[in-house]
Amino acid sequence: MVERVSDIISFVGIGSNLGDPVGNCRRAVELISSINEVNVLQESSLYRTEPVGFSGQDWFINCVIEAGTALSAHSLLEALQQIESSMGRAREARWGPRTIDLDILFYGRDIVEDDELVIPHPELHKRRFVLAPLCEIVPNFIHPVFGISVKEILDSLEDKSEVEVIKRPAT
Ligand code: ADP
Ligand code: MG
Repeated sequence: MVERVSDIISFVGIGSNLGDPVGNCRRAVELISSINEVNVLQESSLYRTEPVGFSGQDWFINCVIEAGTALSAHSLLEALQQIESSMGRAREARWGPRTIDLDILFYGRDIVEDDELVIPHPELHKRRFVLAPLCEIVPNFIHPVFGISVKEILDSLEDKSEVEVIKRPAT
């Protein structure tokens, strides 16, 4: 779709560790691009990441996209949840294995806090698997609550879990 000046810039974190996680993440990006009123502007590399908070499961594949959208934050969440369901995500254990997880990290500089939605995502500043791909595409984005850039948050992070970029094959 055509990018519009009224679009809100939003960042979505994508993760999977069930089935074909690389294929699932790529498919999710395609499906997000196909939402009306969502315009994917940037895509990070895919990262192979160590599970955090629930060990004994497979490593994850994670990436982050930047998208312009005319949807409200709640409508965007609804559209992302429809994609999760259409990709066969059941309601799995929190932090457990999942086919696909789509989280809104930022929605412009808005701060949202209600029963369905917390933005900025309440865990993002603690998670290397989110911050590493986020910093690849927007290192200077200022976290609207902490007032410092995502790169500064990454540089002082305590989470030492491993994340590694998956190199794209040369084409
Ligand atoms: P998690 O991502 O924390 O592992 P789920 O993906 O199962 O857990 O999401 C559980 C609920 O989190 C969703 O039903 C949604 O309403 C809520 N939620 C709150 N804030 C956000 C956000 N920023 N992005 C996505 N979901 C969110
Ligand atoms: Mg989620």
